[in-house]
Amino acid sequence: MARYTGASCKQCRREGQKLFLKGERCYSNKCSVDKRPYAPGMHRQQRKKLSEYGVQLREKQKAKRFYGVLESQFRKYYEMAIRKKGVTGEILLQLLESRLDNVTHRMGFGTSRDESRQLVTHGHFLVNGKRVNIPSYLVKAGDVIEVSERSKKSPRFKEILEITGSKVVPKWLEVDQENMKGSVISLPDREDIDLPIEEHLIVEFYSK
Ligand code: SF4
Repeated sequence: MARYTGASCKQCRREGQKLFLKGERCYSNKCSVDKRPYAPGMHRQQRKKLSEYGVQLREKQKAKRFYGVLESQFRKYYEMAIRKKGVTGEILLQLLESRLDNVTHRMGFGTSRDESRQLVTHGHFLVNGKRVNIPSYLVKAGDVIEVSERSKKSPRFKEILEITGSKVVPKWLEVDQENMKGSVISLPDREDIDLPIEEHLIVEFYSK
């Protein structure tokens, strides 16, 4: 399964904001965006003013990086979104949020999307009682997601829940931390997605 394998912190510095790709480190004073708030290779120069195209491109890149999705897959989500009824940009974000790696991260079963993706790939989660090891699996309203019985005993999951325990779970999800289980109440509306993404710019980018 293809994914970006470069340095996570460089991606944040390129976008000029925290993308929260590294779990705990992102909330510590080790965060590279806080320490070096300029793009990689820029040596503290000011960021250049971007063209309209540049602004749209950066917004798309930022969204891809938040969710850890490569271009070809991201484009597929966009094409799925235009075929659905509704506001394309909002549907695009809803599709990205519905990915199993994102949902398990939102539920607190991974300190970052990257970690959640790895845990999904290693078969630690069940969806409606069946093992699913595909990070891009799209969940539906009513789906029940849980850590497999064997993995519940793993010290790593205990550590993860200690770190994410105080995290606010979005209202479209319900989590029973003690039993390492959660469910999808409904798919998220735009207001439920707290990421600073201007999705209309992404739609404008692809509409050209
Ligand atoms: Fe981004 Fe986290 Fe690295 Fe900070 S620590 S630059 S938020 S990945």
